[in-house]
Order: sequence, then structure tokens, then C-alpha cells
Amino acid sequence: MSDTPSRPTIRLQPSRHKRVQHGHPWVYSNEIHMDNTAKAIPPGSIVRVLTHDGVPLGAATFNPHTLICTRMLTRDADEAIDAAFLAGRLRRALALREKLFDRPFYRLVHAEADGLPALIVDRFGDVVVMQANSAGMERLTPLLLEALGEVLAPAAVVLRNDSPSRGLEGLATETRIAMGSVEGPVRLEENGCTFFADPGVGQKTGWFYDQRDNRAFIAALAAGARVIDFYSYNGGFAVQCARAGATSVVAVDRSEPALENGRAAADVNGVGEICEFRRADAFEEMERLAAAGETFDVVIADPPAFVKSKKDLQAGSRAYRKMARLAASITAPGGFLLVASCSHNVEVPVFAEQVARGLDDARRVGRILRTGGAAPDHPVHPHLPETAYLKVQVLQLD
Ligand code: SAH
Repeated sequence: MSDTPSRPTIRLQPSRHKRVQHGHPWVYSNEIHMDNTAKAIPPGSIVRVLTHDGVPLGAATFNPHTLICTRMLTRDADEAIDAAFLAGRLRRALALREKLFDRPFYRLVHAEADGLPALIVDRFGDVVVMQANSAGMERLTPLLLEALGEVLAPAAVVLRNDSPSRGLEGLATETRIAMGSVEGPVRLEENGCTFFADPGVGQKTGWFYDQRDNRAFIAALAAGARVIDFYSYNGGFAVQCARAGATSVVAVDRSEPALENGRAAADVNGVGEICEFRRADAFEEMERLAAAGETFDVVIADPPAFVKSKKDLQAGSRAYRKMARLAASITAPGGFLLVASCSHNVEVPVFAEQVARGLDDARRVGRILRTGGAAPDHPVHPHLPETAYLKVQVLQLD
């Protein structure tokens, strides 16, 4: 491991230390002396970070090949980054989640905000799904597994290392079980309902805990309602609306395994009779329903990211506008519409504008009841407000 007394050192360019000194967790590659020695540091090493004048700023993971080359771990440049250090971070993250939630189903680690830059850990009871999104976290994975064993003693740990951000770090994608075994979907609970997720093959880590509060909010409006949930995935919104007293729920997704998990959840929560899981393309289905004059009292559209990179911004923004238009066109007068975007490249006002335009395209007016984001098990680092990626609007339409 790089964590030895001979820990390599990187030095910042003159006056480039202020951001880090004030608590920002990143240094960009053009802010350090990227000389041959720095370039030769193996990606993922732990380094001491010094100002231009040699004043220690802290210890960080380092990857000379990326723009965000330095991710701060601690302000003590010589602190040991070992299993005990990582266990300390995990314990702090766990204590917060245990304060927030009664049951062991949540995002346990949300990267920088939990002091473990670029690391995601989702917990499904005694199954843990981990995603290392930097060379530093990749290198620390054996120690992280040791620390997880000490803090949580999980029955199984799945490494879900298939996010696109790994490519930027020069890392390969892989999904494997690092500890124990996982047979089929894992069980989880959210807002009093039971669900199933596939940590090995599903989207992201298998479940989107970030929508927990938004699901509760819309479910509370669903009693007596006809509900449709587009991009339903494992049925999170659909089943919670059904359990809250909807008269009928249609869940639409193009993935059969996701629909299967949704059906299983509907059955186990005793609402299988009123839920229909329909395989279709979301826009096509919205258009078909609109043409047929069908309406719903609650319409939910929480799609995958339409803007995956900055170059998709225009086309992706138009897709949010189209989604809002089509979803509004099948929302009954007085009904509720929930629209979401998890594209981190789309800023809150941009999303709001596209939604407003889409409503106008559908000649619908209404009011925003809730502007939401991710649940508090997805905390945000105070210096990285731009990493608050989830945007949700709940509207009532006239
Ligand atoms: N709303 C979900 C999360 C959505 S994840 C939740 O609450 O957990 C994105 C989902 O959209 C995936 O299940 C994927 O299969 C589905 N999907 C992607 N493109 C689609 C399309 N064109 N039509 C229908 N479903 C689509």
C-alpha cells in the first residue's frame, strides 16, 4: 500500500491552496506541479498535499491522469490511511443513517459528503453493494472490505464497479462478489413497503434510495387515485402508491427483469391485484394513452438520465420538455404530476424551465407543490453543491 512513511508528496501551484484550505475536497490537475515525479506516482496512491511553499494541507488519493487528480481524505498529511481510518469513516456514516432510519436499508456512504471521496456504499440489510469511482478507492478496496467487515460484518459484499466515471480514472468495469454470496434479488424495505433489487445486474446498485422522501410525498396524494408510474424500475413509486390506497396502478418500464421485481413487490405487499406492470417504451406509451384520451389522477415520470454528458445538454433538455408535455397530457384535471431528473449536468433552473415549457406545450397550467432532491442518506458536501444531482417537482394541474 502507498500508506508508508515514504508517502509521495505533491505540491500545489502558487496560491492554489486556498480552496483546499477552506475545506474543498478536490484539487484539479492544472493546480499542482505536475512534474515527472508527480506523473510517475501510481494512480490511486495516497499522497501528502503541500502548498507551493511546503505547508502541509492534508492527505489525499491521487491519480495523475485525471482532471480531479487529488481527492482529500484528511487535513493531517501524515495520518495513517488504514482499515482503522476507513472504519472510523464508516462508523460515522452508519451513526448518521441509524439516526435517520429505523431499518438497515439506505445509502451508507455518499462519497465526499461522508469523507470517503468517490465511494458509494448502499446497504440492503446484511448485503452491501459498493462502487469505487476513483483509482484511489479502487486501491483502497481491500482495506475498505476489511473495515466493512469490522463495522457491519455483512453477509455479502457486491462490488458494482461499472459506472462510466471509472473510465475517466482509467479503471476497468467489473461486477463481482467480494465477500459471501448473493442468490437472486435482495430484499429491502422503504417507507414500510418491501421491495426486491438485483445488486448484480440492476441499474446502479439495484435500488434508488434517493427517491425515498419523494415516493412518500406522492404516495400520500395517491389514496383513491388512478396512478401511472413511468420508468417504474423495481416498482418503488408504483407499489408505495398502491399501498397508500390508490384504486389502480400501472407501472411502465422497458425492462422485463425490473417489471418482475415490481410484480414480486406488489404481491408481497398485498397490492398485486390493483397493480399492472406493463412492458413498453415510456414516450410511446404516453403518446398512445394521450391519443386514446386516457387520464390518470397521479402521473409519475422518473426517467434515467437524459443528459449523460455536457454534449447531450440540448437534446437531453428537450427530452425533459417532451416528457413533461406528454405526462401532463394524461394527467386528469386536479391531478398530480411528479417529474424528475437525475442528470447532474442539468441544473435546477434548467429543469424547471423545461418542465414549465412542457406544461405549456400541453396547454396545461398548475402549481408546484414540492421541489425536492435526494433523501438525506445522500448528503452533499458543502463545497460541492453541484453534486446534488436529483431534481424533483410535484405539481397539481388544473
Ligand atoms: N423511477 C425508478 C428509477 C428509474 S431508473 C425508481 O423509482 O426507482 C430508469 C428506468 O427506466 C429503468 O428501469 C429502465 O429500464 C427504464 N427505461 C429506460 N428507458 C426507458 C424507455 N425508453 N421506456 C421505458 N422505460 C425505460
